[in-house]
Amino acid sequence: MNVVLVTGGTGLVGRAIQNVIENDKRENEKWIFVGSKDADLGDKESTRKLFEHHKPTHVIHLAAMVGGLFHNMSHNLDFLRNNIHMNDNVLHTAHENNVVKVVSCLSTCIFPDKISYPIDETMVHNGPPHSSNYGYSHAKRLIDIANRGYYDQHGRLYTSVIPCNVFGPHDNFHPNDSHVIPGLMRRLYDLCKDGNTEDKIFTVLGSGKPLRQFIYSIDLAKLIIWVLREYDSVEPIILSVDEAQEKSIAQVAETLAQTFNFKGKVMYDTSAADGQFKKTASNAKLRKYLPDFQFTPFEQAIKETVDWYIKNYDQARN
Ligand code: NDP
Repeated sequence: MNVVLVTGGTGLVGRAIQNVIENDKRENEKWIFVGSKDADLGDKESTRKLFEHHKPTHVIHLAAMVGGLFHNMSHNLDFLRNNIHMNDNVLHTAHENNVVKVVSCLSTCIFPDKISYPIDETMVHNGPPHSSNYGYSHAKRLIDIANRGYYDQHGRLYTSVIPCNVFGPHDNFHPNDSHVIPGLMRRLYDLCKDGNTEDKIFTVLGSGKPLRQFIYSIDLAKLIIWVLREYDSVEPIILSVDEAQEKSIAQVAETLAQTFNFKGKVMYDTSAADGQFKKTASNAKLRKYLPDFQFTPFEQAIKETVDWYIKNYDQARN
């Protein structure tokens, strides 16, 4: 029996994996989803107890301190230290407990700032990250270094995936420390909750011009489960939508405004920071393995997420 422990199991990606696994159960797998209430992965002893209790054979390591541009910019040291501690505790405790496979999460936003596009898996360490999120980026890059070390020194198959921006149900919708899609959704929800929106202004921070690839959490969950079951390499793999599916922040804002049936004006606050202009990632490696994988169309995924948010507003992370 394979016992799969999912750290960060209460978060955006973890909840999506729970959702997908409900309909894709296998007899030889037992899945355990844990959040910070089950163990503080920043603490070695707490991590050790968690592993001793569940005795996993496989780990999907999602737990991390995660935040949007503005939270990263003001807390780089916290992002660096908290993530380094969590990652080291999880990987080393996995090794000590003979876990045969670990799949950890990097991110396309940790790539070098000055780089040629599209970025691919070979470029993770080719230069300093963008100054806005250097703490998060360096902590994440060290996962890949550690994976190589665990392979070289101990023959372990500890690997990593590199998702682009994720969105979906159970995201963090907090006004100050959320990613762009849940942040915009939160503002639209507040603007629309009293009905008439014709006289209202929906302000989007930044110029609206930066380009991003967004993956629906349910699609990412399917791909991470595939990596756990089928992808047997230490080398990271980018899990992103195709390059043609890249969207500008303005396109995202317009899609959200339409989905909320917002009738007012959309304005761009160009005094706010834009972050990197683009970070287009190539999913060519993924497509070699899964040429026919169908990503959920963006508008449909946004609609499902908005519907979920409206229905679950009271329990959502606001
Ligand atoms: P969330 O912020 O939604 O969830 C974070 C998870 O980590 C929660 O389950 C949280 O537990 C857990 N956690 C945080 N601190 C601790 C701790 N000290 N001990 C134990 N658990 C802890 O994250 P996402 O689902 O968005 O991200 C999952 C992974 O994907 C992360 O590694 C992230 O870096 C990566 N990623 C995310 C992207 C995105 O756009 N969201 C893009 C690319 C990569 P609890 O809720 O119970 O407190």
